[in-house]
Amino acid sequence: MSTRPILLWFRRDLRLADHPMLHEAARAGRPLIPVAILDPVAEGWGAAAMWRWGEGLRVFAGTLAAKGSRLILRRGGAAEVLARLAAETGAEAVWWSRAYDPEARARDVAVKAALRAAGLAARSFPGHLLFEPEAVATGQGTGFKVFSAYWRAASRLDPGRPLPAPGTLPAPSAWPASDRLDDWRPGAALRSGAAVVRGHSAPGEAAALNRLAEFLGTTLARYAERRDFPAEAATSGLSEYLAQGEISPRTIWAETARAGGNGKFLSELGWREFAHHLLHHSPDMARENWNRDWDRFPWRGESPDAEAWRRGMTGEPFVDAALREMYVTGRMHNRARMVAASYLTKHLLTDWRIGLAWFADCLTDWDPASNAMGWQWVAGSGPDAAPYFRVFNPETQAEKFDPLQLYRRRWIAEGQAHPPAEALSYFAAAPRAWGLDPYAPYPRRRIEPAAGRQRALDALAQWKTLK
Ligand code: FAD
Repeated sequence: MSTRPILLWFRRDLRLADHPMLHEAARAGRPLIPVAILDPVAEGWGAAAMWRWGEGLRVFAGTLAAKGSRLILRRGGAAEVLARLAAETGAEAVWWSRAYDPEARARDVAVKAALRAAGLAARSFPGHLLFEPEAVATGQGTGFKVFSAYWRAASRLDPGRPLPAPGTLPAPSAWPASDRLDDWRPGAALRSGAAVVRGHSAPGEAAALNRLAEFLGTTLARYAERRDFPAEAATSGLSEYLAQGEISPRTIWAETARAGGNGKFLSELGWREFAHHLLHHSPDMARENWNRDWDRFPWRGESPDAEAWRRGMTGEPFVDAALREMYVTGRMHNRARMVAASYLTKHLLTDWRIGLAWFADCLTDWDPASNAMGWQWVAGSGPDAAPYFRVFNPETQAEKFDPLQLYRRRWIAEGQAHPPAEALSYFAAAPRAWGLDPYAPYPRRRIEPAAGRQRALDALAQWKTLK
């Protein structure tokens, strides 16, 4: 049996527990060299996702160090970096956990081919999802387009039991050189500044497990009833951990079952699975209308409306609160995401890809599959989308889901004699060039809710005649 090292290429799978690749590696009895690479695919991520990955790497490096291991950082094309590291260390194998977005998939196929051509063993593992995207299929062997049918089929499968964290991680006789994480400057592109967002994020596997335990112990019981109210801490807050792979969905699944189960909560995890299933079958989902009939829809491109939306200055308080929350915290409540996305695509008739790109830049839980599915669902262009005539009224949504105005008051400073710290923090974080002032009058609406709805319905009716 070989005693040459295995290179463990970590990407967004920064945990020890329930990690199939690491579990297998620890049993191989060979020296292990963990590595993370700032390659062109990672450099293509949005600012918040890149910053959050950097935070995750920092914590994970500490976790590995506590096990007598290290995280080696290198920058460059993944295939070249890995081949060079193999040559430097005598490693003969490279392992990684699968990623599912088309950019990562294309890279991984090329890396596998290059490594094998160089005589190295390349192997990929599951772990990011409960079910591999192709494991759930219709009777005809095709992908599902409707969530309920997908989830019925998926729920018949057994995700298996979570794997324990490895006890030891054998070190090589000598460690290769590593970049310094700070030299990568992962927070450099973050507009609001790392110091601002850092206050709203607790990276790492231990924090993820604490978050899960706290959620299961205190909030799960009222999840179904309260999950739509953005002023309340009634959801799990686990999305950023899932995005970085700091917790596995299987651990969440198993721990939820141990806590008595909750169909509604598990079905939300199911939506994450479904998003990956859709992206697997429609790799263009983040770029093209899933339903190509929408190619003829007269979406508006960049405009002062789109810019006002990004800045949280539309004059529609629920929408602005949502965008300001995201700018400061890197997070946005799901109900707020739906209303903000609907407002951009319906009331402002703006191409969903403009919103998708802004979310991708600002969300610390950015996930290529869930973001694309969410935008196409709201716009109406996706599979199993909201019907085209569904236009969320931002005013009635606010009355229903923020009846005491707690969420809007938390994030909208204008008009309040003593705005709360959160509302002011947005003005402190926004670029000076935007010229925002918390004590200025709140902006006038760009369009009245009823007029915006009618304009959207007219555009949709006209588009129907073109189909
Ligand atoms: P909880 O309600 O506690 O749900 C538990 C987990 O289930 C979440 O962590 C998430 O992994 C999954 N989940 C819940 N709702 C959804 C959903 N609608 N779609 C897919 N998975 C879901 N989620 C992301 O993780 N990254 C994104 O980039 C993203 N972009 C979105 C864009 C739009 C336009 C919309 C409408 C939704 C988007 N979502 C995205 C889905 C959802 O808003 C977040 O997953 C959720 O708000 C995260 O909060 P939580 O962890 O407290 O969720």
